Amino acid sequence: MIEDNVKKLLKELPEHVELEAAAKTRTAEEIEEAIKAGVHIIGENYIKDVKAVYDKVQSKARWHFIGTISTQKHDILRKKYLELFDMIETIDSFDIAEKIDKKCGEIDKIMPVLIEINSGREPQKSGVMPEGAVDLVKSISKLKNIRIEGLMTMGPRFGDPEDARPYFRETKQIFDELKALDIPNVDIKYLSMGMTNSYKIAIEEGANLVRIGTKIFGERACSLPR
Ligand SMILES: *Cc1c(COP(=O)(O)O)cnc(C)c1O
Repeated sequence: MIEDNVKKLLKELPEHVELEAAAKTRTAEEIEEAIKAGVHIIGENYIKDVKAVYDKVQSKARWHFIGTISTQKHDILRKKYLELFDMIETIDSFDIAEKIDKKCGEIDKIMPVLIEINSGREPQKSGVMPEGAVDLVKSISKLKNIRIEGLMTMGPRFGDPEDARPYFRETKQIFDELKALDIPNVDIKYLSMGMTNSYKIAIEEGANLVRIGTKIFGERACSLPR
């Protein structure tokens, strides 16, 4: 089933769009099957999930951290996890960027990151507010062991994904603005947005990285996105 789902998605996605399997709560066997079917990027939200599966997954993939950092600072800042992840998609403050930069300096790594935008301006959600994004990128760009490669957003959850369109659109505007600014040490190329119910709209609005869980692996026991 996972294999069919991945193959269908890969056929459907435009060539410039990369598929990331959002793998929270999934087993190593499920992740392995997705990679064998053609997924190149695995997104994980929780270090405890990574601990449970990473060593058991034999096939090569790029691993992205897509969880809320504030709740897991302690773990994500450990060298082991900074070594393991190929990208952190959820940077939303200078404070956390600076800490990651320092640790990555110690392991001689330049960490590719995305800046998470709180496109819905929801106070309880993570991400930088849209109006703060450019200043945040400028300040983080001075850190030597972090390289900003684009933006990520969740957007508010709606029953009708059409309602998410304006939030994706605003995030794309920030993406374009940052690209035009051409800030040194910043390489704006990834726009990570869209999940199972919203990826088609997100792609129409410019996403080139979609994070899909349910449509690959089936329903989760816990249906919350994070
Ligand atoms: C769970 C999750 C997804 C995927 O959600 P689905 O609706 O299952 O496709 C994407 N992005 C993040 C950050 C997530 O936590």
